[in-house]
Amino acid sequence: MVAIVEDDCTGCDLCIYHCPFEALLPLATNPSGRKHPKRPIIVVEQNCVGCLSCIGSCPTDALHEIAVPPISIESPLLNPSMPEKTAVIKRWKNRSTRWA
Ligand code: SF4
Ligand code: SF4
Repeated sequence: MVAIVEDDCTGCDLCIYHCPFEALLPLATNPSGRKHPKRPIIVVEQNCVGCLSCIGSCPTDALHEIAVPPISIESPLLNPSMPEKTAVIKRWKNRSTRWA
């Protein structure tokens, strides 16, 4: 799966549309003390299948592949946590088959 270095994420949203599984979503609010004015993107662990379609989409190299052991008590796939509150993203135009 992938992880995002939050400090390197400017919140440009480019990666969102490269994920077929809606695993890259923006936080609902920008954490205080953050150096970028826009909220970061997070990886919703329960949705990420590790396809790596998103990896090359980030202009600041904030996305990184991380190894998840197939059998591990540390694996988020086996021990899913509650995802953080994310904002709603409109991925498609109304009544259209093209990107919004
Ligand atoms: S690795 Fe695949 S499923 Fe996971 S966030 Fe990237 S595009 Fe989405
Ligand atoms: S493409 Fe990179 S900088 Fe832009 S929102 Fe995604 S992770 Fe953040």
